[in-house]
Amino acid sequence: MNDLENNNVENGLNNFITEIIDNDIANNKNNGAVITRFPPEPNGYLHIGHAQAIWLNFSIAKKFGGKCHLRMDDTNPEKESIEYANAIQEDVKWLGWDWNDDLYFASDYYQQLYNYAIELISSGKAYVCDLSPDEFREYKGTLKEPGRPSPFRNRSVEENLTLFEEMKNGKYADGEKCLRAKIDMEHPNILMRDPAIYRIRRAHHYRTLDKWCIYPIYDFAHPLEDAIENITHSICTLEFEVHRPLYNWFVENTSVKATPQQIEFSRLDLSGTMMSKRKLLQLVEEGVVAGWDDPRMPTVSGLRRRGYTPEAINNFCEKAGITKFKGIIDLSLLEHCVREDLNKHASRYLAVMNPLKVTISNWEEGRVDILEGVNNPEDETAGTREIPFSKHLYIDRNDFMENAPKKFFRLSEGREVRLRYAYYITCDEVIKDENGEVIELICSYDPESRGGKSPDGRRVKGTIHWVSVEHAAKAEVRLYDRLFATERPGTDDAVDFHSELNSESLTVVDAYLEPALANSDVTKTVQFERQGYFCKDKDSTAEKIIFNRTASLRDSWAKKKK
Ligand code: ATP
Ligand code: MG
Repeated sequence: MNDLENNNVENGLNNFITEIIDNDIANNKNNGAVITRFPPEPNGYLHIGHAQAIWLNFSIAKKFGGKCHLRMDDTNPEKESIEYANAIQEDVKWLGWDWNDDLYFASDYYQQLYNYAIELISSGKAYVCDLSPDEFREYKGTLKEPGRPSPFRNRSVEENLTLFEEMKNGKYADGEKCLRAKIDMEHPNILMRDPAIYRIRRAHHYRTLDKWCIYPIYDFAHPLEDAIENITHSICTLEFEVHRPLYNWFVENTSVKATPQQIEFSRLDLSGTMMSKRKLLQLVEEGVVAGWDDPRMPTVSGLRRRGYTPEAINNFCEKAGITKFKGIIDLSLLEHCVREDLNKHASRYLAVMNPLKVTISNWEEGRVDILEGVNNPEDETAGTREIPFSKHLYIDRNDFMENAPKKFFRLSEGREVRLRYAYYITCDEVIKDENGEVIELICSYDPESRGGKSPDGRRVKGTIHWVSVEHAAKAEVRLYDRLFATERPGTDDAVDFHSELNSESLTVVDAYLEPALANSDVTKTVQFERQGYFCKDKDSTAEKIIFNRTASLRDSWAKKKK
């Protein structure tokens, strides 16, 4: 957790929720205890929005010396799986958080929840209802009109107990009956009009298997799960604000001891990004992306494979802020956070993606000079490495220009540049193929400029990167751009979100890497000097090296939009 501490998670954590908790502690509410939870449903992989909820709950627990539980909210058997539950744990850990022994599963509470339902029935506060889904809706009323009582509302406690038990024992078909809380059919809040709390569903659950054919509804299960775990502050997103009276009703009308407080904040909404798990799953299933961890996905696993660091993501969550108001955060803030973090930590290497051959005319064939490269000028402890130099080099084609204007400080016929860590070279001759395309530069080097140092006070403005042809390792480089070309993908129901995809979100190129980069020790995200941040892909092998572009150095997207 050291890096997170260095990032001062605590100092930056001041928002309306921490104010509420400050107050609660001052009033000795819950004897000063703070227990939060992150309750994902294991029906997909976590995304950057979840990362913010994780950051918020775990850093609040840390700030107040409390605990944060990780709870799989697995009450919808059809869409949940062990794969998702495991991936969620991996992602939370990778983000730097530790739930210690506090990992829970809602499915472990099924018996307890069933008992609470029986309590409600016994006290006349729940009943079994036989209305069909259509009738159920019709009886509910609307915002303008009150609901009407179900004809089954006044069943006796005994009859309800029997029917509910029969529901559990599989006597009725799916959807034939449900258990409802008996609250108020005329309540101005429609959610309080006798909501369903148990439904019949013959579905296989990844943990309880086929033990149950009735499953609790979220609004009933969630507050009781919180209370069972003695959660003090149940932090959730704004759409649950209208559910709060119901949340409190279940806590008050059952025998659970604890009284967790639900607090809502505005969910993270990122421009250029889609966070609906349903639609992300669609992209995966349709093969639009290579999987949940495709580096273009807004998932935690995608960002990890892309080369983002947990520090960058947590910093972003903090900077995006916690409010009660709906707002859209610009995706470039996330990109800024990763650049800011990598600039401090990433080692720098030389790699050429768009090669142009350079031959040093006054260098002997076969002679190799070993130069020293500084791994990270921002961090002395990162040390140095050896870089071989020889007669035949590659430079980036964009670093050469024919008939270059005065202000072009890189290579052109008759001009001199510095090769990073190496020598001053001057371009003496340009060789073209039969189509007039430049295919090679003949240059001469100044032996007195070793290490890129000026031999006589003579200054050159440009420094360019290069690799030695015979020592370079070839790699596949995947240049990623934003997955969507629009600002608000997936938000307009009249538009198919597929049409909003950026057709240029992935470009694959070959690159030539300095030998140190091919080394298997390179596991962290690195900088290719002057080009951006890159990380080795998980599918990279010694035979086929693959790098993903984490981020370019400049915000190319902002430029494109102008
Ligand atoms: P679904 O669309 O399937 O309901 P969900 O995004 O609500 O998905 P959950 O697994 O229920 O997914 O979310 C777990 C927790 O993460 C919840 O407490 C939820 O409020 C929080 N969360 C989800 N999306 C965001 C978001 N964009 N910003 C902040 N918190 C979020
Ligand atoms: Mg949800």
